[in-house]
Amino acid sequence: MARKAILMVDSHTSKCSRCGKGAHIQDTHHTRLLSGWGTPDPDARPCGERFVAISTLRLGITAEDLRDLRPDLPAYAAGDLPADLKGSAR
Ligand SMILES: [Zn+2]
Repeated sequence: MARKAILMVDSHTSKCSRCGKGAHIQDTHHTRLLSGWGTPDPDARPCGERFVAISTLRLGITAEDLRDLRPDLPAYAAGDLPADLKGSAR
């Protein structure tokens, strides 16, 4: 089963859970790379997957914070992801 793309938010950046590359927080699909996540790779491409949820691994970021960022996506605080999405959060 293909992993679903979740927008994973950190304190100063965000990334796509599916391909692990940086993502713009306002994008509905992973079509643009956010630079500044890890080592820049000139061959890096975003996976193009649609984001189905917004989440975080940071305990200090609440679901309300995430909803403020993306009111259109289901928001899950750290550790609160439903079982079918859990394997997708990295
Ligand atoms: Zn991606």
